[in-house]
Amino acid sequence: MNLHEYQGKEILASYGVAIQRGVVAQTPEEAVAAAKKITDETGSGWHVIKAQIHAGGRGKGGGVKIAKNLEEVSSIANQIIGMQLITPQTPPEGKPVHQVLIAEDVYYPGASEISEFYVSVLLNRSTGKNMIMYSTEGGMDIETVAEETPHLIFTEEIDPATGMMPFQARKIAFNLGLSGQAFKGMIKFISALYTAYDKSDSSLFEINPVLKTSDDKILAVDAKVSIDDNALFRHKDYIALRDIREENPIEVEAGEVGLNYVDLDGNVGCMVNGAGLAMATMDLIKQTGGDPANFLDVGGTADAARVETAFRLILKDPNVKAILVNIFGGIVRCDRVAQGIVDAYKNLGDAINVPIIVRLQGTNADIAKELIDSSGLNVLSATAFQEAADKIQQAIK
Ligand code: GDP
Ligand code: MN
Repeated sequence: MNLHEYQGKEILASYGVAIQRGVVAQTPEEAVAAAKKITDETGSGWHVIKAQIHAGGRGKGGGVKIAKNLEEVSSIANQIIGMQLITPQTPPEGKPVHQVLIAEDVYYPGASEISEFYVSVLLNRSTGKNMIMYSTEGGMDIETVAEETPHLIFTEEIDPATGMMPFQARKIAFNLGLSGQAFKGMIKFISALYTAYDKSDSSLFEINPVLKTSDDKILAVDAKVSIDDNALFRHKDYIALRDIREENPIEVEAGEVGLNYVDLDGNVGCMVNGAGLAMATMDLIKQTGGDPANFLDVGGTADAARVETAFRLILKDPNVKAILVNIFGGIVRCDRVAQGIVDAYKNLGDAINVPIIVRLQGTNADIAKELIDSSGLNVLSATAFQEAADKIQQAIK
């Protein structure tokens, strides 16, 4: 589950990670009230107004702006709230902004320099350890840094069994070129950040930038936080942080009816039972020159109602040019699935406007094929994997 910046920062702060202070606002009036409150608490007269969407690169898209006074807070908030924000990480049409974070300006000038760092915490699946990835090149695309100056990205692996060792935090602060107060601040920051990652059961923290202020404070200016869905049962208070407006509406609907659906960019809809067969089916579609429009595991009980729901979901994607149903009847009988497909087709009527290729293998596959072939519907049956692939290829041509 991905969080908004302001929510991620609240979690960080609850574990003692220093953050840029901020208050979320839904309207320009709330934004002004928030700015006043922050000024009262911090003395900072300048504020940064930040669009809250589940995508990075907001600065580049005009979703992060500085306000020098309350009039500017109001006018900038008015401009950003309700805008369709396009960034390198949003879909081409952008994402609507429903709320903004008003935060204290922490880039104030001073005697010594300001520095921006990159710090992320994630799981390295190949070593089974947590990993802190960090760089002196904060504030810009880490992908670009990785491509152009990979030697400026460091990693530190942490054994989850022992947790982070004090020398590891010191090493990170040292590699970031810090000294004095900032060195100490970074050690505290990294230690608290790792604790927050561990205790919140997150799967990703990406803090870009981590700022060293001109008075040598270390704080999180941005926060991308993803909580591991499988651990949400341990964090009942996080469930309310979900913002389904940010999620794919077809995926949200599928989740509500217990279907595993992942939206993809292609043109061939897939309805498969079992995640392994679903992956193999997507490979097959790719090999025939098609492109899967989705991943969909209908699970063990592919009955008529479920099949119909699955068809409805797949057809919501306007890019779908054909649907491949690939079901193995091990627990479920193929003839029941076939009947489900025929019934669903009849119920959906005109909603089905693309050819459907059905491959049913396993228990009663022959009866199932018979049922499909004699249905008189725009449904083609296939027995072999390759036959299904060929029929898909013809269908999308
Ligand atoms: P992103 O573009 O979505 O990654 O959003 P960030 O939270 O990283 O903000 C983008 C950029 O805005 C940062 O890299 C900073 O350069 C700038 N920024 C953020 N907060 C402040 C602030 O308090 N003052 C100033 N002057 N700039 C800020
Ligand atoms: Mn950022």
